[in-house]
Amino acid sequence: MKYPGFNLHIRLTTACNADCSYCSCESDVPSDRMLIDDLQKSLTFALDKFLPRTSEKTYCGAEVIGGEVMVLPTEYLKQAVEAIREVVGSKVERVDVGCQSNLIGSKKKIDALRGIIDEHSIGTSKDSFTNKRTVNGDADKYRELATKGANYLSEISGDTIGTVIVFDKDNIDKVVDEYRIAEKAQTRITIRPVFAGKHSIDYLEPKLLGKYWKELIDEWFVDGRTAVEPLMRMTKSMLGMRTAEVGCPYWRSCSANSLNIEPNGDIYTCQEMADVGAGKLGNAISGEWDDEMYLTLSKRQTNIDQECQQCQWYKYCQGGCMMESFTETGSFYSRPNNCMAWKVIFKSIDDNIKKYGEKVSINWIDKIEKLEDLRVDHSKSKFIEVVTQ
Ligand code: SF4
Ligand code: SF4
Ligand code: SF4
Repeated sequence: MKYPGFNLHIRLTTACNADCSYCSCESDVPSDRMLIDDLQKSLTFALDKFLPRTSEKTYCGAEVIGGEVMVLPTEYLKQAVEAIREVVGSKVERVDVGCQSNLIGSKKKIDALRGIIDEHSIGTSKDSFTNKRTVNGDADKYRELATKGANYLSEISGDTIGTVIVFDKDNIDKVVDEYRIAEKAQTRITIRPVFAGKHSIDYLEPKLLGKYWKELIDEWFVDGRTAVEPLMRMTKSMLGMRTAEVGCPYWRSCSANSLNIEPNGDIYTCQEMADVGAGKLGNAISGEWDDEMYLTLSKRQTNIDQECQQCQWYKYCQGGCMMESFTETGSFYSRPNNCMAWKVIFKSIDDNIKKYGEKVSINWIDKIEKLEDLRVDHSKSKFIEVVTQ
């Protein structure tokens, strides 16, 4: 069933049990968790401001994030998720609560997480090749502990665990290898270009991003048996299997479809905008809302770069990501540097659709989705999908 929905990220803490070098948030700065009273107050305030300014929403895909949720006491996390269900549930017909976790923790902690979060809504992150994801500076330790956690969750839930893989200049040449590993394990993956939030990164040239994603698309098309995001969404959109509103990061309507609350109550459009400190919408604890800023961000829906408006991929790309535009040029309306990569990627998908034909391509996507349904019960899957670093 489809609901007109929005994404809500609630960062309960920035504290983390890992120390990945490219982490986009302040995971290395001492951080308290958000008090439950403040959380309730923040949700009520932020949604009372946000919802009347958007088209009617009946669904909320909420996600609790960190930092790392595994560092939070179980009883606190339980109360936080209950508060989210209660407050958000009073504003929309349905709310699902998922989380993104590195799954580094004891079996007891993972059992508890599974008991609190909606089933099938826990995603994780990994990096099979570089030393960017670390625990106490040790990449092998991260891989060992995160794999152990994901395997255990998979064992008790019967699901394969959806995984985010961040690519920078050091591992982009491994994108096909990461895909092959996922294909073998039949794990849904989300590939995500790195961005600079609170820490420095090894910048990924758009030219390289385009080159290696093209290789991946050519290998995945029409033989892949596992979902690779955002390629799945892009392909479905280009095949007319879903509306042009393809979701983050190919949205020009982020301000109407996404909201993020920080542990100190700061409100942003999304966690990425929060990480780079762009477009703060107010503070939900002190009860401040910046309507002028909301209007400024909303204008991206129509105020889009000239080249984008004339671009053959505009319907699907929608001008790329506003956070990237802002960090690169200081404008919320410019064309991001990754434009060069998106052009290659959309063309590669289009070339493959032409090569295999629409019918074969649609049947192949249907097949992946059926296999996904067998691997994970999607009865609770979200209308709008979320990618996180
Ligand atoms: S990227 Fe995630 S797991 Fe790594 S330090 Fe940051 S919050 Fe923790
Ligand atoms: S600003 Fe970028 S990351 Fe944030 S919701 Fe929009 S497209 Fe997604
Ligand atoms: S591919 Fe580039 S020009 Fe085309 S819509 Fe996307 S960002 Fe704009």
